[in-house]
Amino acid sequence: MRRIDHFIAGKQVTSGSGRVTPVFDPATGKQTAEVGLASTDEVDLAIATAKEAFASWRHTSLSRRTEVMFGFRQILDARRSELAAAISAEHGKVLGDAAGEVARGLDNVEFACGIASQLKGGYTEQASTGIDVYSVRQPLGVVVGITPFNFPVMVPLWMLAGAIACGNSFVLKPSEKDPSPSLLLAEMLAEAGLPDGVFNVVQGDKVAVDRLLEHPDVAAASFVGSTPVARHVYERGTSFGKRVQALGGAKNHMVVLPDADLDAAADAAVSAAYGSAGERCMAVSVVVAVGTSADPLVTAIAERLPSLAIGPATDPASEMGPLISRQQRDRVVGYLEDVEQEGGRIVVDGRAHELSSSVDADGFFVGASLVDGVRPGMRVYDDEIFGPVLSVVRCETYDEALALVNANPYGNGAAIFTRDGGAARRFQVEVECGMVGVNVPIPVPVAYYSFGGWKSSLFGDAHMYGPSGVDFYTRTKVLTTRWPRALTSDVDLSFPTAR
Ligand code: NAD
Repeated sequence: MRRIDHFIAGKQVTSGSGRVTPVFDPATGKQTAEVGLASTDEVDLAIATAKEAFASWRHTSLSRRTEVMFGFRQILDARRSELAAAISAEHGKVLGDAAGEVARGLDNVEFACGIASQLKGGYTEQASTGIDVYSVRQPLGVVVGITPFNFPVMVPLWMLAGAIACGNSFVLKPSEKDPSPSLLLAEMLAEAGLPDGVFNVVQGDKVAVDRLLEHPDVAAASFVGSTPVARHVYERGTSFGKRVQALGGAKNHMVVLPDADLDAAADAAVSAAYGSAGERCMAVSVVVAVGTSADPLVTAIAERLPSLAIGPATDPASEMGPLISRQQRDRVVGYLEDVEQEGGRIVVDGRAHELSSSVDADGFFVGASLVDGVRPGMRVYDDEIFGPVLSVVRCETYDEALALVNANPYGNGAAIFTRDGGAARRFQVEVECGMVGVNVPIPVPVAYYSFGGWKSSLFGDAHMYGPSGVDFYTRTKVLTTRWPRALTSDVDLSFPTAR
């Protein structure tokens, strides 16, 4: 059985913890590898290595750090398809989708190539007589990233590109469900000239995460995953004095007003709900159909579903792949079993979807489902399903739709589809969530903005990557300096004022 282990101090390290967990190809349902789960000693080794490497990396010139990022960018670009294939093999998403993930991760590396302009401080000459004041940004030290299964390349790149370019060293704890791409990233960073120990990977589970969050030599933790774990990571990390940003789950609503182009809205809803089998934190999982839009919109979405090609990434015709695990597939099916008792109406039943002929019967596949008549209080609405199930909630008015979105405990993304600029503007002002799309269903910000939800979708106050990432991975030092010509001075106990 192929083994997947840690990457510490520039080389692969086999876990000696005696604990392993299987890694599957979701398209066949077969185990393809086992991953070693770190002991606390192995986590400590990775942190000690990162701490030692930080001592020289933080003094490495900005131009050299930039050069390493440019080199990494070139390698990532040249090896996109290899990374995409590694993602598909353990996550299951189709190759086009995996390539899109790599491309969005690459954007973050390109942002980090311009880190010099982001790290500039401020300078005030003559703040007081003969006194100049200036500020600099310094790296934090050892920072850690804990990442989810659904973006095994993009989310680590959200974190590590900015963190390393800012001069920190990094320990990544990827998802144990698709751990291999993390080692490819480590290999590429080494090839780009990153000194050993600046980037390390520990494979593992809660044992590793909890140790990373309590270790005295860890300065900050970035987390992306489900809301209960995000809350735990935030509370544990901050209780040990760390700076923490913890991004959680989502329930993203797409409001469709009656004046919208309903065909375009249906295309957008299908793309955003079922792409990556719904396993995206910015997937649309609820369509809020306002007034007369509802019947034609439900019909238009339903018409599009039977022709979706559902199959393995190895089949170039596949548009949607399997779910990550057998348990997750069964969980999704469970929602469909219960929903009609709760008052919903299954318009399209993914259990009956005709899968492509290339599908392995043991793979974790389920078709795309559409459920109408959904309301808050139903499990299908209240839970983050993280699968190919789209709910439709019908509202009479814009105000009712807005109230529904704002009452939801999650606040990652929301979208409005309309031709009315005034209504769209009202929505962008009034909606309570971190990322808003206007006629755009998955408003994932470009790399030079930052990514973050509100409410139960993010714990902490820093959004991820882009300018907020630079703020998160640096701390400011303000210097007040005087270089008197003549060394004359006297004692003065009054409070200094800037005169
Ligand atoms: P998860 O919370 O199960 O796991 C995330 C990470 O936490 C993994 O590395 C895992 O090993 C670790 N972990 C799991 N349980 C833990 C525990 N009890 N204690 C400590 N660590 C633990 O999430 P997942 O299933 O891998 O990913 C899907 C979730 O991630 C969804 O909820 C999705 O919405 C969310 N997500 C959010 C964003 C965002 O930007 N807000 C992006 C991607 C995914």
